[in-house]
Amino acid sequence: MHNTNEMTVEFQSIPQNESFARMVVAAFITGTNPTLEEVSDIKTAVSEAVTNAIIHGYEHKEGIVKIRARVDGRTVYLEISDKGCGIQNISQAMEPLYTSKPEEERSGMGFSFMEAFMDRLEVESTYGVGTIVKMWKEIGVTGHPYE
Ligand code: ATP
Ligand code: MG
Repeated sequence: MHNTNEMTVEFQSIPQNESFARMVVAAFITGTNPTLEEVSDIKTAVSEAVTNAIIHGYEHKEGIVKIRARVDGRTVYLEISDKGCGIQNISQAMEPLYTSKPEEERSGMGFSFMEAFMDRLEVESTYGVGTIVKMWKEIGVTGHPYE
């Protein structure tokens, strides 16, 4: 069976929307019949990207965070974007343990988690313009217990 589905959701850059973002994406991907672990991995990755948009992109100021999600067969594609401050040095930002906010007790592991929990991660950013985080994950590659 081949099925595609797409959604876009936009919300204000406030921390209360982090759980909303996790839930809406989890609900959207239900049709791919994911395992609990796959859902949990995707929710974690979404959380990290949305938190980054709120605290780094908009630096707690008002802004709009956008999620585009697509399901194509068993491939889940997610795009989390903000029109915040952007990232000056993307490869440095993606290094494990790098954080520009050590004083806020950030551990610098957000991108590493996204990379670990998803199959593929791409970050596009223009300093002063905004950031787009793109992530892919194949559902069901490890096999389902009931199949
Ligand atoms: P942690 O995620 O562990 O709390 P962190 O957010 O600093 O810490 P990462 O999520 O890996 O770590 O991000 C690394 C750095 O990349 C951030 O410190 C920030 O400087 C930059 N960054 C990440 N996302 C954005 C964004 N959406 N806009 C601007 N800068 C960003
Ligand atoms: Mg982070």
